[in-house]
Amino acid sequence: MSKPNSYPNYIDGEWISSDRQFLNVNPADSDDCVGIFHKATRADVDSAAEAARKAFPAWAALASPARGAYLYKVADILERNLDELAQEMTREEGKTLPEAKGETMRSVNIFRYFAGEASRIPGIQVPSERDRVFMYAVRRPLGVVAQINPWNFPSAIPAWKLAPALVAGNTVLVKPATAAPLCGWRLAEACHKAGIPRGVVNLICGSGSEVGDAMVEAGPVKAISFTGSVPVGQTIHAKASARRLRIQLEMGGKNPTILLADADLDKAVANTVNAAMFSTGQKCTATSRVIVEDGVHDEFLERVVAATRALRVGNGLEPGVDVGPAIDQAQLDTNDRYCQLAEREGAKLECGGRVLTEGPLAKGFFFEPTVFSGVTEDMRIAQEEVFGPVLGVMCASDFDDCMRIANKTEFGLSASIQTRDVSRIFEYINGIEAGLITVNLPSAGVEYQLPFGGSKESSFGPKEQGPVALDFYTDFKTVYLGY
Ligand code: NAP
Ligand code: MG
Repeated sequence: MSKPNSYPNYIDGEWISSDRQFLNVNPADSDDCVGIFHKATRADVDSAAEAARKAFPAWAALASPARGAYLYKVADILERNLDELAQEMTREEGKTLPEAKGETMRSVNIFRYFAGEASRIPGIQVPSERDRVFMYAVRRPLGVVAQINPWNFPSAIPAWKLAPALVAGNTVLVKPATAAPLCGWRLAEACHKAGIPRGVVNLICGSGSEVGDAMVEAGPVKAISFTGSVPVGQTIHAKASARRLRIQLEMGGKNPTILLADADLDKAVANTVNAAMFSTGQKCTATSRVIVEDGVHDEFLERVVAATRALRVGNGLEPGVDVGPAIDQAQLDTNDRYCQLAEREGAKLECGGRVLTEGPLAKGFFFEPTVFSGVTEDMRIAQEEVFGPVLGVMCASDFDDCMRIANKTEFGLSASIQTRDVSRIFEYINGIEAGLITVNLPSAGVEYQLPFGGSKESSFGPKEQGPVALDFYTDFKTVYLGY
């Protein structure tokens, strides 16, 4: 096997090596090393923050369509390399190749979308009460912003943070997750190749406790955008608030799909399996609870178990594989632990529930797609995020009971309902406590043109994506002009 490539950090327009490195290993195949990454030091983070501070005035002074032109170039570079980038994503994160292609294309679309926003960045202009006064407010960038990313959408999430920050005129420190840093590295490389001036984009790899923490502490940083788990989000929030940094947190979920008795059952089964099992259940918007109206419960259970059993687990590079590996040993152990816990709590294991080690699967972190029935609202499997291909089926007496159970969680990221009843659909839209809601679709699978984010413990601060993404990355300057 050829020697893996080495990936240094990107600071002030230069590729900076470090003598401390870490391996990015394929979660489907421990023999496959995707790359050797350089661990940044706290001093590297500080020099990246200083480079971003120095680069800010000139970048902010560009006309925003000129910044948009760079973003179009980034999108073109990514699109030209789509197949290779998708392969790398599957190798480092484990999702299937079609999923990886879809995500890479989404990053291309995100860069194009925000490139287009460059020529539409809206201000406010209203009439004054006074004669001969012209009053308006324009958006201004914040300065240096820090972005801390998870591993599960290793390209799209860094893209949906980076593109709006840049187009608004900020300079950026990007930290990809240690478990899947290459896709983020490729975005930085594309920014470099597109000719974005030095210091505007800086990419720093290394652990959250060291590099992430140093980003939150770095003097020039004005805002932190974080996506990841609730505990880490809370730690960052406490630190960032003490420094009065602007902050945006997107975190976990325990997302419900409600299934009413009148639904199209074929579609409901397909939507539930899609949302629960695809991407190995490692989507923040994945369905982990399906709340089923009594009358259709038994038939649905039988069919969802059959559909889950039919899924093919394996290396996502192989055609025909539906479900790839868990990201790492820790996540595999978490899946296993929660399945054992659910059984101890009295849920019934209908299928799955095992770590898979047969043949080539022994080289990866594979877990059998799992369905539990008899899950009740106070069980930990009904309340805590597992982040694996594990679905709990819950039985409810009627629509109101479905809604009560669905809302009985600290989280509020996504939710779905499967029904043909228009009145119920609107009651659900009005009453469900979640930021992203779907009807007769999977709970996961959102687009970039509308706001993205949750409610309750899942999220904090302004939403990401769509035109409102600019709210987090800008401030208003208000002008009263007498003439
Ligand atoms: P995580 O463990 O919270 O890590 C997220 C990022 O924070 C990583 O880059 C991590 O670095 C860094 N980090 C860890 N400790 C830190 C600290 N003390 N200070 C600063 N940064 C720190 O989450 P994950 O395991 O990567 O991702 C899975 C979680 O993300 C799930 O809970 C999922 O629901 C959530 N998620 C939410 C959304 C959403 O939009 N709501 C989207 C995707 C995922 P290292 O890993 O490199 O150490
Ligand atoms: Mg990896």
